[in-house]
Amino acid sequence: MKKHFLIVGAGVAGACTAVHLIKSGANVTIIDNNKNVSSRVAAGIINPIVFRRMTKSWRIDDFLPFLKTFYKEIEEDTSSSFLLNLSIRRLFASKQEQLLWLEKEGRDDFSPYLERITREDLDYSGAKNPFGSGRIKEAYCIDVSVFFKSITKWIKEHGTIISEEFDYKNLKENTYKGTLYDGIVFCVGHQNKDCKYFEELTIEQTKGQLLTIKSKTLPENVSLNRKCFILPKGKRLFKIGSTYEWNNPTTNTTKQGKKNLLENLSYITDESVSVLHQEAGIRPTTKDRRPMVGTHKTVKTYHILNGLGAKGYMLAPLISKEFVDYLMKGVELDPKINISRYYRRNNT
Ligand SMILES: Cc1cc2nc3c(=O)[nH]c(=O)nc-3n(C[C@H](O)[C@H](O)[C@H](O)COP(=O)(O)OP(=O)(O)OC[C@H]3O[C@@H](n4cnc5c(N)ncnc54)[C@H](O)[C@@H]3O)c2cc1C
Repeated sequence: MKKHFLIVGAGVAGACTAVHLIKSGANVTIIDNNKNVSSRVAAGIINPIVFRRMTKSWRIDDFLPFLKTFYKEIEEDTSSSFLLNLSIRRLFASKQEQLLWLEKEGRDDFSPYLERITREDLDYSGAKNPFGSGRIKEAYCIDVSVFFKSITKWIKEHGTIISEEFDYKNLKENTYKGTLYDGIVFCVGHQNKDCKYFEELTIEQTKGQLLTIKSKTLPENVSLNRKCFILPKGKRLFKIGSTYEWNNPTTNTTKQGKKNLLENLSYITDESVSVLHQEAGIRPTTKDRRPMVGTHKTVKTYHILNGLGAKGYMLAPLISKEFVDYLMKGVELDPKINISRYYRRNNT
């Protein structure tokens, strides 16, 4: 008999988990209230380098090959295209940052991701560039609207999606609204506080705002980065992002958010751009910046995948595969992502 899982939440975490569960032979029903404010607002950028510290993103050597294969398979199965190559140019904030890049660009562990700085990079004239610039190799961008259309189509062909609020009161042990499930998987993002089974695992709510602007002069073939990112969207439109507003559970856009983003943009261009649109979402963030994956300490059929923070599109494909291998084959979870680390710490 096939196992039947109910997944609550169809953001990038729930959707990727559904695909892996189905591929490993389970039946899946996924329920979502369409209030998604994170995965659909996200810029979808996958950048292997953390500029602030000039370090490689956590486990990037594992995540990158896996996510490319995962997304390409969904693209092929649904005749769509949403995984786009992205050229990222970092405009250095200081001479020290330039020196740090030069120090790392030749190292075996960084060379897959950093282009060597050339004269052209130092003299780059497409934006304000007082300290020179460097280019990233192996960066990508997910077109999130096409991604959701495609993955929803894929899941509907192989499983069931229900568009409604999951009402916690209607869950009686493993039965939800009359159907018995082998497991209930909570992928509810920042709304984890409403999930009484996992509410003690603190998911911080980190609000982020983005602008869509029109510019006459910004380059359309590269994503510039300093203080903020500029993501070209075609037809002279660009997304500018994003703010980090810690412990802020609201999803409204604010004048202050817009002001901060435009101030950050002024480090890249002096052009006075027109703002066409402003959006906000909430990143589900954890204290140790690692995902939360695992099983409830007493109810062994209740599971969670959450805490993808600012990098859902980079982490979700492989983290959800590791989660499904754990659920279906009993493969042990990496202690760094297993929620047992919090239970141990809280001594519960
Ligand atoms: C401004 C901004 C920019 C970002 N940019 C990037 C980026 O460039 N690259 C990147 O990788 N990441 C980015 N992120 C982060 C990314 O959006 C998150 O990591 C990711 O969306 C988290 O996915 P999730 O599935 O865990 O949560 P969510 O996307 O929030 O999904 C949870 C789902 O559960 C549903 N749900 C919750 N409770 C219930 C219930 N009771 N009943 C039914 N449904 C329920 C919600 O409606 C939602 O659809 C950005 C985030 C923000 C806010």
